[in-house]
Amino acid sequence: MTTHFDYIAIGGGSGGIASANRAAMRGAKVALVEAKAMGGTCVNVGCVPKKAMWFGAQVAEAIHKYSPDYGFDVTVNNFDWAKLVESREAYIKRIHGSYDRVLANNNVTVINGFAKFVDAKTIEVDGVQYTADHIAITTGGRPTWPEIEGAELGIDSDGFFALNEQPKRTVVVGAGYIAVELAGVLNSLGTETKLAVRKHAPLRNFDDMITTTLVEMLEQDGIELLTNSTPKKVEKQADGSLVLEFENGNKVETDCVIWAIGRTPSTDKINIEATGVERDAYGYIPVNEHHETNVPGIYALGDIIGKVELTPVAVKAGRILAERLFNGMTDVVMDYTNVPTVVFSHPAIGTMGLTEEQAIAQYGKENVKVYNSSFAAMYTAVTEHRQMTKMKLVCAGDNERVVGLHGIGLGMDEILQGFGVAIKMGATKADFDACVAIHPTSAEEYVTMR
Ligand code: FAD
Ligand code: NDP
Repeated sequence: MTTHFDYIAIGGGSGGIASANRAAMRGAKVALVEAKAMGGTCVNVGCVPKKAMWFGAQVAEAIHKYSPDYGFDVTVNNFDWAKLVESREAYIKRIHGSYDRVLANNNVTVINGFAKFVDAKTIEVDGVQYTADHIAITTGGRPTWPEIEGAELGIDSDGFFALNEQPKRTVVVGAGYIAVELAGVLNSLGTETKLAVRKHAPLRNFDDMITTTLVEMLEQDGIELLTNSTPKKVEKQADGSLVLEFENGNKVETDCVIWAIGRTPSTDKINIEATGVERDAYGYIPVNEHHETNVPGIYALGDIIGKVELTPVAVKAGRILAERLFNGMTDVVMDYTNVPTVVFSHPAIGTMGLTEEQAIAQYGKENVKVYNSSFAAMYTAVTEHRQMTKMKLVCAGDNERVVGLHGIGLGMDEILQGFGVAIKMGATKADFDACVAIHPTSAEEYVTMR
């Protein structure tokens, strides 16, 4: 006997949970299958533990860098990494509890285990089969490992969150969000940190102002940036330390190597072949604007579609799919343009819309006007550790519509959201200027740029 559902989501991460809850709220009979911990990457080995570590790093910076000039004579006896991990995990446990309660209140059937397709309408978990009219693949991704000798001597971002002891020395390999964030956290908490990138800089697809400033700030903070450094092999020495060798012949001795070179979509172990659902060369599932795959009744959303790999994107797409399937909202689609995003570096980076380069390519140089601002964040300016903030507005057309907003500086993580609303509404530079500044803040610069 198989149990039949209206909707099954395979994967209890950001997208799966959001879609399952919303579908159930709209009256559907719903099952959610999760192989590991409810909450997926974001809650267990992503956004949440990362942000907790980042907050820990903020505390360290406040104590070591800024407290003396604010008049505090602080003696730090110890930094207990394991205590920070314990607090973080206790917080995550509370989130698990809250997910369980909401799913139960919505009457979502939670199935613990690894789902595989039997056919396009049937999945199997631990030998039990379930059918559904609609099945969403929300299986997310996992860290990518380099295929080099000794790679297994390193760890990935999941391994970073499993560390119970602080490494003394670490080389973070990679150039994306995760590499920058983990290197920043480790460095601020006192690990001797190097960041190894294949090309000239990390985050090289961001606006040039961000990339350049980030490089300056990494160096200023004491993170050694190893450029043009593609990893070749890792070896363990008799004393337990590691030697990471690069293609360029350079070698670095360290205690820990973290691979942060991207993520691989988890579509390879779910017997997707039984459904006929197509995947691209990287394993991502192509979908149309309604998140429909090429097979009727099977949908994909979140990281698995390889578009914009962010939690709020997966959540929004999941809710929109549920509203479409079970609430008649057939004309609502997920808008993948102008998604605001923050890199939790030190200081944070916020970015939305087009880079200056992209705007020029799209509108022509003569139709693009760029406004810049550069200043020392006041919190740091009253201390000897002055830290720069850099901001940029990219405007296009005669009415100077804001098509890109970029910033690196203290508070950028909290500043971006509100401006995101304005940009989504099509705000122009004049609209920005029409808003009275809040003084003294960093955010006010965005409404006073000349
Ligand atoms: P996931 O959250 O990955 O969930 C997929 C779930 O499916 C997993 O729980 C997995 O166990 C389960 N699963 C897989 N296969 C099966 C199967 N066959 N059967 C049952 N279950 C299965 N995004 C942000 O917006 N902000 C951040 O600050 C941020 N920080 C991040 C930091 C790190 C270190 C990482 C790795 C990611 C971060 N992200 C962040 C990205 C964010 O975590 C992802 O975009 C988001 O989790 C994607 O959601 P998802 O539902 O697509 O997949
Ligand atoms: P990214 O895709 O962002 O970056 C990985 C980078 O590593 C590549 O762009 C590439 O940069 C470099 N790289 C790739 N292969 C190799 C290799 N073999 N050796 C050395 N370097 C290599 O991946 P992440 O894993 O950092 O993050 C995945 C996604 O998760 C992000 O894109 C983001 O969407 C999301 N995320 C969001 C966060 C947030 O919102 N704050 C935080 C963390 C993740 P190059 O080509 O320049 O070498």
